[in-house]
Amino acid sequence: MCAQCGLPMAAGLTESSSALLCGACRTDKFHFDLARVYGLYRGVLRRLILQLKFRRRERLAQRLGSLLAGVWQQNEAVARSETPLVVPVPLHPLRERERGFNQSWLLARELVRSLPASARAKTLRLDRRLLARVRMTAPQTGLSLSARRENVRGGFRVRWPERVRGGSIVLVDDVMTTGATLSACAVALRAAGAAQVFALAVARATPQFPDFPLSTADTEVDARAGEQT
Ligand SMILES: [Zn+2]
Repeated sequence: MCAQCGLPMAAGLTESSSALLCGACRTDKFHFDLARVYGLYRGVLRRLILQLKFRRRERLAQRLGSLLAGVWQQNEAVARSETPLVVPVPLHPLRERERGFNQSWLLARELVRSLPASARAKTLRLDRRLLARVRMTAPQTGLSLSARRENVRGGFRVRWPERVRGGSIVLVDDVMTTGATLSACAVALRAAGAAQVFALAVARATPQFPDFPLSTADTEVDARAGEQT
């Protein structure tokens, strides 16, 4: 996988180099230090995320959040960060009201609950409202990386910069696609003085690894998923 954004790559492309980077990270760096996901956005994992978001299966957040805790512990840079601040990627308030919850917040909360006591003892903090979505962005579906970056540019604001200054931030999202949203969050956090920004997502959607054929029920949920992210 790419050392920075975690993009899975075909085995034939890997070299012995310890810092292998994907095309996007080589040409136009992301603003987070590191992004990691639990798995690919397909099959059962994708179905669970869609059910969490669109069928209000909020209890699924417990299981998916515990998967994120595993990613946290497996990643040395994240696991060793001092007094990290865990921050969910916000939804626009109108969208959150419509859905009734922010799935990234549920995942962030369950992630923290699932971490072993030794990790939580490092005065880890959870900050639900630190980031604000400044404007309603158009859905990212179907846009290229550069179009997605343009779409979310300046879309986030840090409400309390003093909480961020000099610290380590762990951003939490459900699905990472191009990384444009997480990178836009990182831009705001860096501008507020964050020293390190890590991004954790449950799943990575990438055209290199498309989903399996869908059942009718899935297609229905997918159509709705395409409308909003
Ligand atoms: Zn990369």
